[in-house]
Amino acid sequence: MAYIVGLTGGIGSGKSTIANLFSELGVPIVDADVVARDVVAKDSLILEKIIAHFGEEVRLENGELNRSELRKLVFQNEKEKLWLNNLLHPVIREKMLQQLRSVNYPYVLWVVPLLIENKLMKLCDRVLVIDVEPELQILRASRRDSHSVELIKQMIQSQVNRELRLSFADDVIENNLPLEKNVANLKQSVAKLHRTYLHYAKIISR
Ligand code: ATP
Repeated sequence: MAYIVGLTGGIGSGKSTIANLFSELGVPIVDADVVARDVVAKDSLILEKIIAHFGEEVRLENGELNRSELRKLVFQNEKEKLWLNNLLHPVIREKMLQQLRSVNYPYVLWVVPLLIENKLMKLCDRVLVIDVEPELQILRASRRDSHSVELIKQMIQSQVNRELRLSFADDVIENNLPLEKNVANLKQSVAKLHRTYLHYAKIISR
């Protein structure tokens, strides 16, 4: 099993941006969001179970899951949210573990937005947190998703707070400066961490 570096951070903190920099160095990525999308792909067993439970209104005309409709149905409905999480979480977890197990590289970057919330840091050898000032986080996330500032604030509230997340970090990348000014620095930080992770992976595999 490869050495596992869990990468996490709040909504809009820059997880994908930083993960891409690792990927450019050849590091394999297992991305929880990608797996979560895959398990409910068109014609999948899980999608059919969701439709059997919530009705055809959660199926788009092209056969794919109507995510925004499903989100509306479970939003503020704890019972339905629990049902959905109980269905999805074990399948997503198993698929992620399968992907982590099949990595053929000294280490793997496991990108999980809710790493701390779902207590998955226990499965990591090391945790990298992308940290950003809340004002910038709100601005970037609302711009990217065309969501209201209010909604982004609610989403941030539903995640662990910044201090708690940082308390689990072995490494932190600060993503406060605008990309155009800071991309060279970020690349340098990523390259340094990359060397460190390769080194630790080698020690562990001995
Ligand atoms: P989420 O978990 O919400 O999907 P994320 O943590 O993966 O988000 P990104 O998608 O990398 O975050 O970044 C969020 C948005 O902010 C994107 O539009 C990205 O281009 C932008 N962004 C990231 N870092 C910076 C930066 N340093 N300066 C300006 N914009 C940035």
